Amino acid sequence: MLQQTQVKTVLERFYFPFLEAFPTMEDLAYASLDDVLKKWEGLGYYTRAKNLHTAARQCQGVLPKNASELLELPGIGRSTAHAISAFAYKEALPILDANVKRILYRYFAIEQRDEKQLWKAAYALFDTKHPFEYNQAMMDIGSMVCLAKKPLCAVCPFEQGCEGKSAPLKYPQAKIKQIKPIRNRIIVVYTRNGRFALSQRKERFLHGLWGFVQYEAFEKNEEVLLGHVTQHYSHFTLQADVYVYEGNYAHEGCEWFAPSEIMNLSLSGADHKVLKLIV
Ligand code: SF4
Repeated sequence: MLQQTQVKTVLERFYFPFLEAFPTMEDLAYASLDDVLKKWEGLGYYTRAKNLHTAARQCQGVLPKNASELLELPGIGRSTAHAISAFAYKEALPILDANVKRILYRYFAIEQRDEKQLWKAAYALFDTKHPFEYNQAMMDIGSMVCLAKKPLCAVCPFEQGCEGKSAPLKYPQAKIKQIKPIRNRIIVVYTRNGRFALSQRKERFLHGLWGFVQYEAFEKNEEVLLGHVTQHYSHFTLQADVYVYEGNYAHEGCEWFAPSEIMNLSLSGADHKVLKLIV
């Protein structure tokens, strides 16, 4: 939940309602994907919700207790597997979150961003005698001492051995900012008898969420322009003109919903904005 979302927002809006709905892994395993997506709505990156759901089913509601088995589950990569196993089960493994990465880049003066090299560095510095305390300490040093903009080297316990302390901001090299492409789309809200046509997405992106009909190109005819929506995603920005079309048009794969029913569907951020234009 914390990927690209602040702790405060997660705690205020998502974490507790999610746990209330699915208090155990078993509850999550038996829940429908629609219910899980609905509780995830607004957090974005919906593949995580689907992976969580699939993982709960795959392990039949019982989370494995070591990193190598955790890695078999969808959505769990090496960093997550190590973090779960190190903190929940005290397995003697180094963790590698953003704060720890920063320390390692600086301590070993590594300029190029390189995950493989970082793992090597993580094991090189790892305290095998006190693994749990070491990992806790690394997180604390990362969040309170080896700060991104103003590292406090004078009070850092790594100060003596740190190879990057003379110019810590050099490590790692700054990321080149990518300009996000813009995708222009036409969204058509088909309506008849006070109901609206929506379909459940089959494609990988936003898979499982419901949405209004979207076109790359559309020959405008009798539609009425309702407005525009803009939605920022991690890899592109969606800009869409929204039209409404009233009539007996049946769009393939769509179902018809009253506004009150649409509120219970899991929708993407863009479709929520479209909904606001019509209700
Ligand atoms: S000495 Fe400075 S740069 Fe090195 S790990 Fe400590 S705070 Fe970071």
